[in-house]
Amino acid sequence: MTFNELHLIDPLLEAVRKAGYETPTPIQKATIPLVLEGRDVLGCAQTGTGKTAAFALPILQRLTGTDAGGRGGKKPIRALVIAPTRELAIQISESFDTYGAGLPFKNCVICGGVRQNRQIERLKEGVDILVATPGRLNDLIGQGFIRLGQIEIFVLDEADRMLDMGFINDIRRILHYIPKTRQTLFFSATLPPDVERLAMTILNNPAAVKVDAVNSAVDTVTQSLYYVDKVNKTKLLAKLLREPDVHSALVFTRTKYGADKVVRELMRENIPAKAIHGDKSQNARQAALHSFMTGDAKVLVATDIAARGLDIAELSHVFNYDIPEDPETYIHRIGRTGRAGHTGVAASFCCYDELERLFAVEKLIGTKIPTVDSPYPMQVCTYSTEERRPKPARRQQPYRRRRNRR
Ligand code: AMP
Repeated sequence: MTFNELHLIDPLLEAVRKAGYETPTPIQKATIPLVLEGRDVLGCAQTGTGKTAAFALPILQRLTGTDAGGRGGKKPIRALVIAPTRELAIQISESFDTYGAGLPFKNCVICGGVRQNRQIERLKEGVDILVATPGRLNDLIGQGFIRLGQIEIFVLDEADRMLDMGFINDIRRILHYIPKTRQTLFFSATLPPDVERLAMTILNNPAAVKVDAVNSAVDTVTQSLYYVDKVNKTKLLAKLLREPDVHSALVFTRTKYGADKVVRELMRENIPAKAIHGDKSQNARQAALHSFMTGDAKVLVATDIAARGLDIAELSHVFNYDIPEDPETYIHRIGRTGRAGHTGVAASFCCYDELERLFAVEKLIGTKIPTVDSPYPMQVCTYSTEERRPKPARRQQPYRRRRNRR
């Protein structure tokens, strides 16, 4: 099937051609005709499957085909996309820019972590498509800067992650502001019961679309496992990162503190690395991503939430510095390499404390991850500086302030 056969209008076909896409991905083949028909869609797909174009292309086409009908001169926001993280929201907005280059629509990102003034200026200029994270969107609705009463199409992206991050009340509040008569597109990598319940309350007679990128990652990525003590993990990582076939590596740590610590230790080993996690400012995150994309830093160390949705096409290696608590996260992580036909390599480090988590992962993927002899074999040593770190002083301030007031 070609993009022509999906009956997309010329400006979109031109944009797709310029983006270098030859054929639609499975999620695009399935979703684009449904969205063009005006159907609600329940899409089970993860980032990396071409999901963004699957909704952005037909949304742009539908907005082209109908009149905005704005009142009082100012054009209304017609499509709203909600995403769980700032990075994902920014990438979605950039995709709308790319695919909509030949169309007159404006889009804008509303997300936390940056000052709201610039975002408000953009809103005042008038936008057709709004891409937002839930918290900041509710803030700006509350301050009266955003009206969602004329939304025609609503997209909830990565709904499972959104619920994991505790956004359910924010989503309910947003739903309260958008019209009941609308087209809704709901995407989630997994469909646990709470996510399915949410889907059923907001979708109207949806068509279900499922693409299984999850297992294909397990099949296409070369996986390996190193048993190693916690104290030796960074030494092992540094040794592996120096191997010549490692061009760009994403290292996953379970905690933000862990991510910073690994970066510090790698820098000490003269390996340029950057950390990306929720405690970093938006500018610091963008700078880290930029230096990784340009090759200044060949290693990006990230927590799962920060890494989710990052579109990094050329990733040679994924390292699981820690075994994730949720076994499905393992599949998401290793799926970050080996994209778009590239072969990927994923190495996991397991210390004694993590054996249970490792077993859960192996049960989920239905196979044992092949073990590689570690240059730092496990001696069952679990000492970690992480658990001994001092508490940050600022945590104590509110208590002191309260005492002074008395
Ligand atoms: P997404 O799942 O939307 O994050 O997309 C993952 C990556 O696939 C992005 O880099 C897109 O630019 C790319 N992509 C999307 N659709 C296609 C396609 N039909 N052919 C090739 N690459 C694509």
